Amino acid sequence: MKTTFQYDHYYAYQELTEALKTLVSRHSDILTMESLCKSEKDRDVWAMTLTNRQTGDPLAKPAFYIDANTHAGEVTGSMAALHTLDVLCTNYGEDEALTKLVDTMTFYVIPRISVDGSEVYLTTPYDLRSADRPYLTPVQQPGLVPEDMDQDGVIRMMRIKDKHGAWKICQHNPTLMEKRKPDDREGEFYTVVSEGMVQGEVKGEIQPAPVLWGLDFNRNYPFGWFHESRQAGAGAYPLSNPENKAVVDFVLAHHNIGAVATHHTSGGVILYPPGTRPEKSADPDDMRRLREIAAMATEEMGYPAINIFDHFMTDQENYSSGAFDDWCFQDQGIPAYTLELWNLLERAGCKIDWDRRDAKSEAECLDTLTKVLAWCAENAPDSFEAWTPYQHPQLGLVEIGGLNLKFTEENCPNAFLLQEVEKTTKFCLRYARSLPQLAIDKAEVKWLGEDLAEVTVTVGNEGYLPTYLSQEAKLLKTAKPVKVSLQGQIQSFIAGQAILEIGDLEGYSGANANYRSCEVKTGEHAPLTRTVRWLIQAQKGAEVTITAFQPKAGRAMLKLVL
Ligand SMILES: [Zn+2]
Repeated sequence: MKTTFQYDHYYAYQELTEALKTLVSRHSDILTMESLCKSEKDRDVWAMTLTNRQTGDPLAKPAFYIDANTHAGEVTGSMAALHTLDVLCTNYGEDEALTKLVDTMTFYVIPRISVDGSEVYLTTPYDLRSADRPYLTPVQQPGLVPEDMDQDGVIRMMRIKDKHGAWKICQHNPTLMEKRKPDDREGEFYTVVSEGMVQGEVKGEIQPAPVLWGLDFNRNYPFGWFHESRQAGAGAYPLSNPENKAVVDFVLAHHNIGAVATHHTSGGVILYPPGTRPEKSADPDDMRRLREIAAMATEEMGYPAINIFDHFMTDQENYSSGAFDDWCFQDQGIPAYTLELWNLLERAGCKIDWDRRDAKSEAECLDTLTKVLAWCAENAPDSFEAWTPYQHPQLGLVEIGGLNLKFTEENCPNAFLLQEVEKTTKFCLRYARSLPQLAIDKAEVKWLGEDLAEVTVTVGNEGYLPTYLSQEAKLLKTAKPVKVSLQGQIQSFIAGQAILEIGDLEGYSGANANYRSCEVKTGEHAPLTRTVRWLIQAQKGAEVTITAFQPKAGRAMLKLVL
């Protein structure tokens, strides 16, 4: 895939902003950027709009929406969002299929929502969920606070000799720590904590301090929001974070958004809603469509697709919610996926079973750690530091060691970034092609008298998705009917009005196509096209315009000379 930028490292805020501005300046005919909101640290959250404006207003085309970095550290996602924009811009006018996408659809991309949090993540050793804003308490509470003590730029593990410690050096592999057995009374034991400093008085056991920057932007969306007592990081009330509110306002202001991909890491899994109730409680056709689209993600990305509630949630009674994908689908009826990019464990040769609920055995845990370290030694050798003695100013002699989790577990090492973002773009572009799209299939004029004409028009949906997007949208009453208008040099309407509502149009996903054992069949189904007729008084040679419009399926126009 031809691109303007190299995808060989992660972009901090300024580099990301410059990359976006470069794309805008080189492709000003198709790409614009706006500031969605200002962060607390005065950074703009950028929202990009990509479409060929010569072929129509952005709002008059079906739209695909991408966002990333809801979670500060999941920076692979923002690089993937940039890559998709980059591919569409850089190949515009050269690649026929990509050009057609930009001509006929609108892409809205918010590459980095948590601009402040991601900056901390990328430019300091600290890790955080969403934003570097104190939450729950105004200042850091006592306990061990993560800190890069040995100043190698990475916060790793710290092991401290402790006769009450629950860990010991692994017998078979001294790099690893293993749990002390029930009968282990003799020997050297350790407490293992984050590399860090004790805040407050050092007394007795070392305990981790409560997290100061605990906000979680993906628990602050309005659908299914729960209080902090149920889900950590929820925020004071739904949309209490300005970034969350700006995203929701943006989606609501762009009524053409018909498909959503929200990029996260990691796990290598494609998540589809609902996330607050079982898949079988949702409409079967909605779920079939979500699965059929997700199958393209599995094909392109190699990641399995699973329903959030049934397979991803470990606790189906006290599940957490307030996530963006659920708001899109269960509040707006818009198909939405959370793409959990990158999977270190799978790369390292470990099998992942998303339905497994029992705890891994110790042998399995040690096997996973061994495989991960072996993979990192070969593929990201700089990420690992063996246990190294360190004279801690508060705790005396300790040892620091372990992986740089930011660019092994949470994000891919730089060398793997390009392939990760390429496959994400490949899926997103296929997903965008599933949007509903109105077309005027046929228009006929028959003169019934000197100034009496019958105009017959067939309007169809060329896309896979229906114009209403989902049955969920119908239930929520967010689905709008298709309207067809006839305007121009018309003296009067004898039959039919200037604007007719023709209801919904199925996409080809609604054609009731089924495999049987020995043949295939298209069964009875709701209409994919509709024909409308007008009787009008007009002069021969009069010019009229037929327009079909539906917010999610765009606008189709045809000019006729009667
Ligand atoms: Zn995430």
